[in-house]
Amino acid sequence: MIKFQDLSIKLKLISIQLFTTLFILVFFVGIYLFSQYHQYETRAFTRMSTLADILGSNSISALLFFDNDAATDVLESLETQTDVLNAAVYDHNGDVFARYDRNSNSVFDFGTMVSEVQLARDNHFVLTKAVLFDNLKVGWIALRLDASNRRTELIESVWESFLLFIAGIILAGLLSLRMQRPISDSIGILAETARQVKESGDYSVRVKLSSRDEIGMLVGSFNDMLEKIRNHEQHLEQLVAERTVELEAAKTKAEESDHLKSAFLASMSHELRTPLNSIIGFTGILLQGMAGPLTDEQIKQLSMVKGSASHLLELINDILDISKIESGRVQVYDESFKIDLLLVMAVSSLRPFAEKKGLRLRHNIESGLPKLFTDKRRLEQVLINLINNAIKFTETGEIIVNCYYKEDKLSIDVIDTGIGISEKDLDTVFETFRQIDTGLDRVKEGSGLGLAISKKLVELLGGTIRVVSEPGVGSTFSVVLPFQTEISPNED
Ligand code: ADP
Repeated sequence: MIKFQDLSIKLKLISIQLFTTLFILVFFVGIYLFSQYHQYETRAFTRMSTLADILGSNSISALLFFDNDAATDVLESLETQTDVLNAAVYDHNGDVFARYDRNSNSVFDFGTMVSEVQLARDNHFVLTKAVLFDNLKVGWIALRLDASNRRTELIESVWESFLLFIAGIILAGLLSLRMQRPISDSIGILAETARQVKESGDYSVRVKLSSRDEIGMLVGSFNDMLEKIRNHEQHLEQLVAERTVELEAAKTKAEESDHLKSAFLASMSHELRTPLNSIIGFTGILLQGMAGPLTDEQIKQLSMVKGSASHLLELINDILDISKIESGRVQVYDESFKIDLLLVMAVSSLRPFAEKKGLRLRHNIESGLPKLFTDKRRLEQVLINLINNAIKFTETGEIIVNCYYKEDKLSIDVIDTGIGISEKDLDTVFETFRQIDTGLDRVKEGSGLGLAISKKLVELLGGTIRVVSEPGVGSTFSVVLPFQTEISPNED
């Protein structure tokens, strides 16, 4: 059912007016019918009283001279009053002196005459009145009137009222239809304009209405608001245009900088890596004694030169890697290969370093894994970095590499029993140049870029990397990759 508050303003106004009219009509018609009903009774008794007075004064001489016939004649005059059913003249002792009954078979007993009475029954009214002569009571007049007309008259009044009622409602409806228009039309125009503005987004539209009432004020405020929104919009468009120009300039500048950076990195790659490779190569030749025998001290010094150069080369390679990844210039070359072979090779190549520290390095690879289709070189780089870190940050115990298939994905866990990572550092280990302060003298080599590079590479391969660790117990680095085994024609 539709609620009142959901009706349109027009219908609300019409219904308010109709209900008010209805209420007023019901109220006044009710009062009218009630008074009609009671006035009938008052009128009837006034008439009966007058009749009794006339009959009384005409019967005085009959009563004084005990002339029953004369009194009967007086009562006979009631023949013309068709609604008088019974009448009687009583003497001063209250005995019947003369009587008149319209129908001889409906004789009515008025009872004893003690005092004047007026009785209203459903179908008839009874009135008794004393007959006075020189202020002396000489007898009584009693009348009984047919009141069955009262109901008929009431029904007629109800019908008349009902017709008036209907006429009133129709008139009120027509009037309210006409009178609500100035209000509902104005609000309708306002609502329609608001709808248009919402749909078209055109804030130049204005509501053309002028009145001094609240609706006029509403229209004025609405137009003002549209004006303000339009101004804001224009201002915003101008700002966007200005910022776009600025952004374009900044973008061009950034592209130039990127270009310069690439050029710098390329030259650094060549200018730094070439001499470093020479240093490493030549110190290697010297250390092998190919240029003549060396003293122990010379071997020690040259080994330090070679170690530092190798570390520097590693650092430069890492910086080049991360800048290439960040500028999106790293290409992924997917190929189909056996992951167990890759893992066995990576673990075998690093086992000597683990054993040198007295650590056990082993692997658990689920049997029957299908071939993997991804960038083998990049995955190998990530795994070597993780195993390297595990060896670097473990003093006793062992390192295990687990590889298994789970929920359509390939998981590789590198688990160590090393120093672990505190909870507060877990979030930052994958950030660039992060090296956690363990509180001990930093003896581990590294650039703080290994994990950042690993994370970006894994993401580039469509996978994820995460770490679970407990200080003093160990860490588990997990790489999860989508298991792509088939080469689709597009990817080839
Ligand atoms: P780094 O070249 O210093 O190893 P990484 O990005 O590889 O740089 O690692 C960042 C830091 O995360 C390390 O300096 C070390 O503090 C911490 N870390 C990495 N791997 C481990 C591990 N297996 N156990 C404990 N700490 C680790």
